[in-house]
Amino acid sequence: MPASHNSHSGSANLPTPLQKAENLSKRLGGPSIFIKRDDLTGLAFGGNKTRILEFVMGDAKAKGADVVVAGAGWQSNWCSQVAAAANKLRMGVVLYKRAVSDDYDPEYDGNQLLQFLLGADIRAVGSPWTHVGRVKAEIMERLIAEGHHPYDANASPYASIGYVNGLLEIISQANSNGFAVDHIVTATGSGMTLAGLLLGSLAMNAGIDVLGVSITPSSGLRGAVADRANTTAKLLDLGVSVAAKDVNINEDYIGGGYAVVNEDVVKAIKLVAKTEGIFLDPVYTGKAMVGLIDLCRKGYFSDDETVVFLHTGGNAALFPYRDPIKAMLKSAKPPWVRPPWYYNE
Ligand SMILES: *Cc1c(COP(=O)(O)O)cnc(C)c1O
Repeated sequence: MPASHNSHSGSANLPTPLQKAENLSKRLGGPSIFIKRDDLTGLAFGGNKTRILEFVMGDAKAKGADVVVAGAGWQSNWCSQVAAAANKLRMGVVLYKRAVSDDYDPEYDGNQLLQFLLGADIRAVGSPWTHVGRVKAEIMERLIAEGHHPYDANASPYASIGYVNGLLEIISQANSNGFAVDHIVTATGSGMTLAGLLLGSLAMNAGIDVLGVSITPSSGLRGAVADRANTTAKLLDLGVSVAAKDVNINEDYIGGGYAVVNEDVVKAIKLVAKTEGIFLDPVYTGKAMVGLIDLCRKGYFSDDETVVFLHTGGNAALFPYRDPIKAMLKSAKPPWVRPPWYYNE
């Protein structure tokens, strides 16, 4: 079977390309940089969540679920991908998302627009977000009372398996092209992706430094990533155990916080668009690229090393963030650096 062919429908479009970013590498003047195009996973607008959902939705199906429940921020890529995967598998989908306030009238833009088009049942969770647990419990209870079998996608222990697979895919592509990978750099939010990549590297004894660039302040993230990796190791029967100290996370590029666009992020997005014709997003991959650029400058990588930058997707978010981006590009003081629907704590 050709590697690029998927014989069963509903799965991710794998393998995604591993492309040499020659112009970007030259511009940064350090290591050889490749971009792993997981923005091209093929479901809805693509992204790392497609790879994650292959196994999460597989578990949902195996458990006989008919409705998937998922939640995150207002412009969540995760929610769009869950809704698209649920449609493909003819399951229902209920999303709970963090809104600005209870009476917030949402603009249909970016991921909110996609989720509306996908036909998802969207519940806005107003202030305070700490009510989210109760909102989710009520959604689950209501679905059960209606005779459904809901699946809580956010609590799935299967979330990191996709990136064990992703790591194997990167190694196999590098091998068949005759080079070795020294570092993988990825944006890190919940750590599902980082946990899978790290576990894969340890299980394969690949010796790859897997670096997560954190995009939001998150205490205890290293421990949480180690827990995810260990849960995954058990599911896969890998006999590898991961400690918090094995988890490499850089928190220097968080800037003003989650989804706060700063000038460095806009410059990084422009640089990659200009050199490679590839778009990054303002919340995750743009920030991870700020990290990659700065770490190149600081000599974190040697010139003879190979770095794979994981493009985790998120491009739909470029549009709702137009105002801060526009303001930065005009180098005027931005009217706001957070979009209006950002929940201000
Ligand atoms: C969710 C997401 C991430 C972070 O992935 P985690 O597994 O939650 O750490 C990175 N980039 C994009 C575009 C995402 O949507």
